[in-house]
Amino acid sequence: MTPHDPVLARLQDGLAERKLALPRCTDCATLIWYPRARCPHCMSESLAWEELSGTGTVYSYTVNRRGQGEYAGHDPFVIAYVELAEGPRVLSHVDIPTPTALRVGTLVRLSQGLSEDGHVRLTFAPEENS
Ligand SMILES: [Zn+2]
Repeated sequence: MTPHDPVLARLQDGLAERKLALPRCTDCATLIWYPRARCPHCMSESLAWEELSGTGTVYSYTVNRRGQGEYAGHDPFVIAYVELAEGPRVLSHVDIPTPTALRVGTLVRLSQGLSEDGHVRLTFAPEENS
């Protein structure tokens, strides 16, 4: 897939290497998720990309037990809001063998950033010993 949006392309390029980078506004310091060409807080176009740690904690989650479409046969799977260590909360998947073992606050690390067809699909996995 060839993205038309250069901002999205920048995000995807990083995720292809399992690196999560987001733009930060150089005028008001807002870290911007979902990436876009202007700061949603102050409308500045002065942005600088910043590589993040790729870590966070589970803020909230649900277990989907009936996958449909591309998720058929992959159930149960976890859909979660992960609060990145740097602040933004991102809608994600959490790859965990036993979804019922997941807890709010579980430490997670980015394990995959793109789907097989190149779309942004953040997937995290629990950190060891969390
Ligand atoms: Zn700003």
